[in-house]
Amino acid sequence: MQEFDDLRRTALERVTAAADLEELRELEREVLGKDGPVGRLLASIPALPPESRRETGQRANTLKRELEAAVLERRNAIEEAALEAERSGGSFDPTLPAPKPRRGSLHPITRVTRELEDLFTSMGWHVLDGPEVELERYNFDALNIPRDHPARDTMDTFRCDPEGKLVLRTHTSPGQVRAMERLRPPFRAIVPGKVFRNETVDASHEHTFHQMEGLCVDRDVSVGHLIGTMKTLLRGIFGKDIEVRLRPGYFPFVEPGFELDARCPFCTSGCSVCKQSTWIELLPCGMVHPNVLRAGGIDPEQWTGFAFGLGLSRLTMLRYGIDDVRLLLSGDLRFLEQFA
Ligand SMILES: [Zn+2]
Repeated sequence: MQEFDDLRRTALERVTAAADLEELRELEREVLGKDGPVGRLLASIPALPPESRRETGQRANTLKRELEAAVLERRNAIEEAALEAERSGGSFDPTLPAPKPRRGSLHPITRVTRELEDLFTSMGWHVLDGPEVELERYNFDALNIPRDHPARDTMDTFRCDPEGKLVLRTHTSPGQVRAMERLRPPFRAIVPGKVFRNETVDASHEHTFHQMEGLCVDRDVSVGHLIGTMKTLLRGIFGKDIEVRLRPGYFPFVEPGFELDARCPFCTSGCSVCKQSTWIELLPCGMVHPNVLRAGGIDPEQWTGFAFGLGLSRLTMLRYGIDDVRLLLSGDLRFLEQFA
């Protein structure tokens, strides 16, 4: 057992002399491993007479605990010494504030969405969510979009199954149908979310972008209510009253349908944002088509409504002066950190 005692002593001495944590980790593996004193002791057991096996096993256990304790003690000593060295160094200033944790920030689209949700809920609107993978029936049929309408073309729509019954929603308008199914009139609801189009991507086109659908159904709703709501929305986003105008527009799910333009919030006599026209095309809107109300189980003889489809990505770009839509979903920190 003299040989074993030597091994034990050497192991303890080496642990106590370890200069840094790395060396200590190496030593720990070595002395507690197969070829260390504990490993050897255990390996010797099968060759021993039965009566001394138990004692040798206990001895190995005791030694293992002894070595582990020595390693722990040495580790604490090394760490304490390192901390002490740092504290007593010339560059240590205990009065400096602790380093701040890195904080993320809200995406500009999230910000604009939340502001609009606040604004609309303050006027009694519901905020609804809808599926991004949508039934063709909701994306097109229930919105009075004819079978032969070019918007159904596979060039524009991502289809999820060979039959084309499931699509990635191409607009948030299916939210109108789902709102009519969930809520009984009178009601008002917005549906913000992602939409998808099979588009060639460039500075002003993205395959994935954000919209916000709005639908108000009540008795005697008029275009005046629509204009009033849109002006409130613009005041919320740009912080000032903005003139709007309606031009006739054709969308199958509204009748009459309009394109709503807003007076350019950035200039008075023309700029690059408004292409020198002082007007910005903002959103399609209109009075809900009776067929759409019927598809949602609402009697168009009793109820009327207005609807609008706001381009959230576009509005966010206008609000922050972003000139390339691809930046929005790029995940590029150089872009995102500007909104921290
Ligand atoms: Zn302008």
